[in-house]
Amino acid sequence: MLLEVKNLSIYYYTLAGTVRAVENVSFTIDKKEWVSFVGESGSGKSTVAYALLNLVPSPGKIVNGEIIFEGKNILGLTKDELREIRGKEISMVFQDPMTSLDPLRKIGDQIVEVMTEHGMEKDEAYNRAKELLRKVNLPEDRMSYYPHQLSGGQRQRIAIAIAMAFNPKLLIADEPTTALDVIVQDAIMDLIESLKKEGTSIFFVTHDISLAAERSDKIAVMYAGKLVEFGKVEQILENPLHPYTQSLLASVPDLWSEKEIKAIPGYPPDLRNPPSGCRFHPRCPVFNEKANLKGVCDSIEPETIEIEKGHFVSCHLYR
Ligand code: ATP
Ligand code: SF4
Ligand code: MG
Repeated sequence: MLLEVKNLSIYYYTLAGTVRAVENVSFTIDKKEWVSFVGESGSGKSTVAYALLNLVPSPGKIVNGEIIFEGKNILGLTKDELREIRGKEISMVFQDPMTSLDPLRKIGDQIVEVMTEHGMEKDEAYNRAKELLRKVNLPEDRMSYYPHQLSGGQRQRIAIAIAMAFNPKLLIADEPTTALDVIVQDAIMDLIESLKKEGTSIFFVTHDISLAAERSDKIAVMYAGKLVEFGKVEQILENPLHPYTQSLLASVPDLWSEKEIKAIPGYPPDLRNPPSGCRFHPRCPVFNEKANLKGVCDSIEPETIEIEKGHFVSCHLYR
């Protein structure tokens, strides 16, 4: 196992109240495994992603849990120790690469700097930068370009090139293709997959479950800060257990069937004051149909149960 996250809870302490953004989330990522986190906007996917390098932005705080990466407790590391791991053993790629690229400096200098910061000699880093550009299918002359001279897709390739510099053990990719058109999106997904083939594990965030299904080994479904279902792609697609997962899959357009696309009615809850019991109960079609669930789903928090090997769900239907 590469990464183990246990009982992770993260709150944002705002003037308007405490946002319980991530609550009691546990999962693992194996070596060379691609795990995708899916869920609606605000479900806590990015907050989990930032936590993996102890980078949750203020006013967020990790209030509980453990993050064990290769036997090391990430939350117990000093800033220097984290900096050593970041970019070398764990890399991050974001939706908007402009957030990590410096607009005023040439691409080549930025790639080289990441490597020299981790102790590589300048000449070696320069050669490695050229090699990385080739790997992400960009011509060498892009070294002398500034970020604004590149397209969004090319900038994302640069961000991935930087993330690849040290053959990291884990790549955290938070909606890396959301801002790109479909063809460019596919090329970026190919690049991430090539990283996986070289031995990197992938923590991938998307709100698009069909995109996740194409490439992942496992899918984690988040709803309102809770991990409601986790399992192998086949398990999630062929046997979705949680009513929210079922709704997500029903909302995917299917070109080959006449099936009507159903959006999930209602809105995600306000996480300053999340619903009692199961956080999904106000929108859950099963709860709304079955009288015997009244007084259960709306008052008792469901535990996480392993239904078959590697397939976990948090829902009272499976007690
Ligand atoms: P999206 O798909 O929109 O990126 P997400 O699943 O990544 O959503 P997060 O960004 O992790 O969700 O947010 C989880 C919850 O935490 C949301 O309710 C959000 O409003 C809240 N939150 C995130 N950042 C902050 C912040 N800086 N201050 C206060 N609340 C925050
Ligand atoms: Fe629906 Fe109850 Fe399961 Fe929550 S616990 S998803 S409300 S059936
Ligand atoms: Mg996000």
